[in-house]
Amino acid sequence: MQHDDPLTDLAGVGPALLKKLERLGLYRVEDLLFLLPLRYEDRTQLIKLGALAAGTRCLVTGEVLLSETVYRGRRNLLVRIGDGTGQLTLRFFYFSRSQQAQFQSGVHVTCFGEVRKAPKGFEMIHPEYRVLREHQDPAVNESLTPIYPATEGVQQGRLRNLTDQALVRMQKSPPVELLPREILNKLAMPSLADAIVFLHRPPPDADVALLLAGKHPCQQRLAFEELLAHYLSLKNLRALAKTESAPALVDGKAEVDNFIGDLPFSLTSAQHRVVDEILSDLQAPHPMMRLIQGDVGSGKTVVAAIACLKAVACGVQAAIMAPTELLAEQHWRSFSDWFRPLNIEPAWLSGSQRTVARRESLTAIEDGSAKVVVGTHALFQEGVTFKQLGLVVIDEQHRFGVHQRMALRDKGVGDRGQPHQLVMTATPIPRTLAMAAYADLDTSIIDELPPGRQPVKTIALPDSRREEVIDRVRSACAAGQQAYWVCPLIDESETLDYQAAEASYEMLSAALPDIRVGLVHGRMRQAEKERGMQAFKEGLIQLLVATTVIEVGVDVPNASLMIIENAERMGLSQLHQLRGRVGRGSIQSHCVLVYKPPLGHIAKSRLAVLRKTNDGFVVAERDLELRGPGELLGTRQTGLPDYRVANLVRDADLMPRVQIAAEAIRRQLPDNANAIVRRWLADVNRYGKV
Ligand code: ADP
Ligand code: MG
Repeated sequence: MQHDDPLTDLAGVGPALLKKLERLGLYRVEDLLFLLPLRYEDRTQLIKLGALAAGTRCLVTGEVLLSETVYRGRRNLLVRIGDGTGQLTLRFFYFSRSQQAQFQSGVHVTCFGEVRKAPKGFEMIHPEYRVLREHQDPAVNESLTPIYPATEGVQQGRLRNLTDQALVRMQKSPPVELLPREILNKLAMPSLADAIVFLHRPPPDADVALLLAGKHPCQQRLAFEELLAHYLSLKNLRALAKTESAPALVDGKAEVDNFIGDLPFSLTSAQHRVVDEILSDLQAPHPMMRLIQGDVGSGKTVVAAIACLKAVACGVQAAIMAPTELLAEQHWRSFSDWFRPLNIEPAWLSGSQRTVARRESLTAIEDGSAKVVVGTHALFQEGVTFKQLGLVVIDEQHRFGVHQRMALRDKGVGDRGQPHQLVMTATPIPRTLAMAAYADLDTSIIDELPPGRQPVKTIALPDSRREEVIDRVRSACAAGQQAYWVCPLIDESETLDYQAAEASYEMLSAALPDIRVGLVHGRMRQAEKERGMQAFKEGLIQLLVATTVIEVGVDVPNASLMIIENAERMGLSQLHQLRGRVGRGSIQSHCVLVYKPPLGHIAKSRLAVLRKTNDGFVVAERDLELRGPGELLGTRQTGLPDYRVANLVRDADLMPRVQIAAEAIRRQLPDNANAIVRRWLADVNRYGKV
């Protein structure tokens, strides 16, 4: 089989089906081989009716003993079958006359379905069934039945038929094995072709439990290659950057030293170390591609500012992009304060900007009079032309994907090459995931908080103790401090979020008449939000009721109390981020996680993790462990693309071996490395050139 045989080569694929298959991400015959079943059903053996167990799905056969309709609110058809070892009831809520007539006493049927405990023995509700002709043997399947990911209008039978055809073609010319024998042996994994056949048509003795957990060596074999493909493509990107040119930023030492000396605080040693790493990258004539990981409040912004200053001192422009307007605006303010003494006025660019202001910014960006530009996604959209962009800083990287990073990079410095890239994240991700997500980047870690900060104390309270929580707010505000009250997230709906926030706002305003309460939510216009946040920053508002819009990066050192309602509904990382809004000043801060009992097992563990640790990396590791294997880390959380077979949570433990294999293949078999990337990423073209 050629790897690009079109699906129309297969029997039964017409234009209509083709469209539906494309919706499943299937374009070529080979793609079908990589469309793996979600689960399997065992129709390879008949289970004796005396040996049924509730909760299992199985194939049975028996003779009809009795068939009757009964009224249980509505008409039910009950068919009792027996096989000499036991009995089973088939229950139908919907049935036709002819169906009913089929179940004559004495005929034989085979059924497949889920066994449930009923008041009298076991039953199957709406089983798949077949009435057997006299002396006909109930046929069993030779392999486990694969259940494929469904798409509208493509039935399982059709998908089985198509994969059958693809598997037959594969036997004539199997997909090329791209992993070297050596590596396969070391990993004790099957060959690609064996793995594919096995997963599509597992033999009756296959370990179903292992398959369902996604931990079968055949599944791991494919996941391994997919992770490898992504890793290699990111490494290619990294290698490509090393061959590209970028302006070598060597001047400006005095400016940078003076700037650091004039700051109202001295840098932590972690900040110093990271600044040095950045400055040394910037001196090279190739684009820097560096990631700063640093917990919330570790002081990444000032590090970014130093990098920007270096760029400006060397005569190129610097742009900093943040994921929300609120955050971008905060950066703009910090940068304005820090750079004002140097006569550098940062320009502002955002989606909601008015036309006149926007045009002004665009002109300044284009003619180079804007040396530093702060903004949102608006920065990398069409129509934004930089005179000489030399440095791109992307804050809260996890909110952007690799593609967006690339888009900004492409606004490069023309004849002087690509801009340097600095990306920052306050969402520490476990080491194994970082390998997968940031393989194209060098990493710096700010693992130290500015001095004088006390770790936030975290407690969890049931919502029946809301009065106590309100008392805490009252006394914190009476002591001159400020508080956040974060409202529940309801079904990802901005409208409902807003209503919940509004209700809390009213409740708190009534309960705390002496306290100035403000409200900020996602549905407000940008200017309104800003006004609210600004008022909170200036202390005009003492208690800020908010939806999770404040999640990222907002900095108000006088806020020492964080209340989070319905904490049981939020993920660990999100809770940690929210908690990071307090503990930024020198006062002891508290975080109160208010929950609605009863707590499930996972929710309980999550809250316990937060009570026990303030370390973002520990939180991230525990977050990974606490996610079920079905809970994917999507693009949104990590900047990672979606995977076809691999599941980063489930397969994270493969990453160290992926990394080792990738280095070996790159060195010894560069052609294979490229072919692996093409096999898994060709259509998607996710990371650009290979
Ligand atoms: P994050 O890493 O979460 O983006 P920020 O850059 O917003 O953190 O910094 C948090 C706060 O700490 C800001 O008010 C910042 O000015 C302050 N800060 C940064 N570095 C230091 C330092 N070395 N000493 C004291 N305060 C600092
Ligand atoms: Mg920040």
